[in-house]
Amino acid sequence: NISERLQLVASFLPKRAFFADIGSDHAYLPCFVCINDKYAKAIAGEINEGPYQSAKRTVEELKLQEQIEVRKGNGLAVIKETEVSHVVIAGMGGSLISTILAEGKANLKKVERIIAQPNVDADTVRKWFFNNNYHLVDEKIIKEDGRIYEVLVGIRGNAGESPYTKENLDRELLFGPFLLREKTEPFKEKWRSELEKKLLALEQIKKAKILDENKINQFKSEIAAIEEVL
Ligand code: SAM
Repeated sequence: NISERLQLVASFLPKRAFFADIGSDHAYLPCFVCINDKYAKAIAGEINEGPYQSAKRTVEELKLQEQIEVRKGNGLAVIKETEVSHVVIAGMGGSLISTILAEGKANLKKVERIIAQPNVDADTVRKWFFNNNYHLVDEKIIKEDGRIYEVLVGIRGNAGESPYTKENLDRELLFGPFLLREKTEPFKEKWRSELEKKLLALEQIKKAKILDENKINQFKSEIAAIEEVL
């Protein structure tokens, strides 16, 4: 069976979805989805030869070639002219996910929903959604094997009321408007550890010979923001 993290990601796909999993590695996610839904169809995209071969192997071993096509290529280039309505990008940093989305924006025209699972820097993905007309409709944060993961779901266009408020936009983009409201244990754990890291970094900067006022103030405001939500 696949990880709880990938199962959570999969839970945001509707039945009979036609989707792409970008950076699929072993193609565990599309295989899991297609085994459980014989009407689902997927493109597994991989940029690197090793993972691309692993993906092909898994799909062949599970005899899922009818449902899953493995394609080699950079990011969303593999869905060009393919009418997938959902895109999954999981298990990478938020900056890489945002770069893949930005570089492949032309191929997102038919994509209704993006499910992103950044391992770090989730705020970068939230900001990309926000600035590119993808409406954040759900977020989750979980802990598995000692690591904390976030899952963000964006729907293209105007999908109802914005989850953000004018007054707290910056804070909500950083922490996540849904996660901020729920403040689950993994959320608190993540930000407690971020706070510790920032306090340590601040101490180091203060100890360093060159005193950078701007940097110190930036750290102080970040620390204050975290302390406020905890
Ligand atoms: N999505 C899987 C998961 O969540 O378990 C695998 C995550 S794995 C850590 C990241 C994968 O993304 C690697 O296999 C890597 O080769 C692939 N990758 C990185 N940059 C990519 C890009 N620009 N386009 C397609 N795949 C990429």
